[in-house]
Amino acid sequence: MENYPGFTMITGADLAKKFKEELMNFENDGLWIKEGVEVVDLSGADPDFLVKTSDEKEYHGKTVIIASGRIPKMLGIPGEKELLGKGVAIIEFAKGSHALTKNGQATLQKVARSVTIINITDALRGDEILMKNVTSSSKVKILNNHEALEILGDQAVGGIKIKNKQTNEEQIISVSGVFIEIGWTPSTSFDKLTDKNDKGEIEVDNYGATSVPGIYACGDVNDQWGEQIVIAAGEGAKTGLRVAEHLSKVPHQQTSNIHEG
Ligand SMILES: Cc1cc2nc3c(=O)[nH]c(=O)nc-3n(C[C@H](O)[C@H](O)[C@H](O)COP(=O)(O)OP(=O)(O)OC[C@H]3O[C@@H](n4cnc5c(N)ncnc54)[C@H](O)[C@@H]3O)c2cc1C
Repeated sequence: MENYPGFTMITGADLAKKFKEELMNFENDGLWIKEGVEVVDLSGADPDFLVKTSDEKEYHGKTVIIASGRIPKMLGIPGEKELLGKGVAIIEFAKGSHALTKNGQATLQKVARSVTIINITDALRGDEILMKNVTSSSKVKILNNHEALEILGDQAVGGIKIKNKQTNEEQIISVSGVFIEIGWTPSTSFDKLTDKNDKGEIEVDNYGATSVPGIYACGDVNDQWGEQIVIAAGEGAKTGLRVAEHLSKVPHQQTSNIHEG
């Protein structure tokens, strides 16, 4: 990364490590860091919310800030889950960044003997230079208007079944790897309470407040424009200030402090 203030260049992993080191200074002040667990459910109402996690713990809180980012979209076709890590992989790229999409493909063509791009629309879009790099390569074949139907293989990927959307003709291509790169979606499976837009993003006001009083959302999971770490960090700071203000209005006796159950 070359665009986070204070660092000329730092990897995402190193930046996350630095964020964590700083947070650990607050562990004696009631801040807990729980790693390797997933939030599976959110319920309750202002000012008493309940968060359930995958390790069957329960957390009560007066407010909730959702900062769960985005997860890669999957194709949802047979063979995808079964062969993940056995020839099926997910190429990561920033939401809406077609330049990086093409960058992933451009990188792939350096290591593969041949690359076939299965594209469901009638044309690929992207940064002009990277597009030229991809389309001018003799290793790359682009199949527009084609849809992936099934990934084939037993212990490892052996092929992919695809359909021409214009002729409905199906064919099997013999491949040894399938790289899925169809975008990202907000991680909100645990949240049935807040209003979302048609992209599944949590709708918030200028202060990060959602449609449910007491629940806030910041970073890539919400409907605000721009997906960058500095933007997510800024939204987090703004939301934190707003939550502090919100909490100052909640009478102390009305509910207990955050506690683990
Ligand atoms: C490949 C790639 C490269 C990028 N490069 C850059 C770059 O160079 N510069 C830049 O500014 N931005 C970059 N971005 C974008 C940047 O990573 C995001 O905008 C930023 O991380 C968003 O921060 P966030 O806190 O909202 O979400 P995240 O950083 O995605 O954090 C969300 C966290 O919530 C966790 N989570 C999700 N669901 C649950 C759940 N149910 N229970 C518990 N935890 C959960 C996730 O595991 C994750 O740890 C890049 C993104 C990608 C994918």
